[in-house]
Amino acid sequence: NNFEELNLPPCMMDNIRRCKFTKPTPVQKHSITIGLAGRDLMACAQTGSGKTAAFCFPIIASMLLKGYQAAAGRNSRKALPGALVLAPTRELTSQIYDEARKFTYMTGLRPVVIYGGAPAPNQLRDLERGCDILVATPGRLSDFIERGRVGLSAIVFLCLDEADRMLDMGFEPQIRRIVEQEDMPPVGQRQTLMFSATFPKEIQRLASDFLANYVFLTV
Ligand code: AMP
Repeated sequence: NNFEELNLPPCMMDNIRRCKFTKPTPVQKHSITIGLAGRDLMACAQTGSGKTAAFCFPIIASMLLKGYQAAAGRNSRKALPGALVLAPTRELTSQIYDEARKFTYMTGLRPVVIYGGAPAPNQLRDLERGCDILVATPGRLSDFIERGRVGLSAIVFLCLDEADRMLDMGFEPQIRRIVEQEDMPPVGQRQTLMFSATFPKEIQRLASDFLANYVFLTV
């Protein structure tokens, strides 16, 4: 029951040590194993369970281990992230971004965060510097997609964090429009991780639409 057993790349192990994480939380242990096995995941996990690292670790590890080419779209007007994390609020996307920065330190992977209620130009400039892991609220991402500033054709990982809260906030139409963009690789050709505190019918429906042959995890 330690990180050494989970086959994470050495540069990630250094970052985990720097974060002073000594052993994986239950949701992390399982999500890393499931994620590295290439499976889709529906996880019911609360804040405080270590869920942020539970989706960041398998995403970063897979990108590093499976030959993902970092910052492919660098300096172009359209960012082409390899991983997309959707979350409901500015606060949550910022928290995820802060953790993703620590976990990607010296890996060559670049996370970027975008959210509404803040000026777009800085965020667009950030995207132009290269974006491997995009952490976004659905509204701001829809806007940037419509403006042709973010493309989804390079997505290998899609993650929905706090999916139940996103639905409570009325984001379902925007989320569906994003996931059903014509350049988004379809179910089965991307890996999808969904995290939610609860598992009501609406989330079950989203899971059956967005995930393929998924592993269900409750902690
Ligand atoms: P979360 O559930 O993602 O909101 O994480 C809750 C807090 O636990 C955050 O401050 C994390 O940095 C911390 N944390 C996450 N995983 C671990 C771990 N394996 N060991 C120690 N602290 C952790």
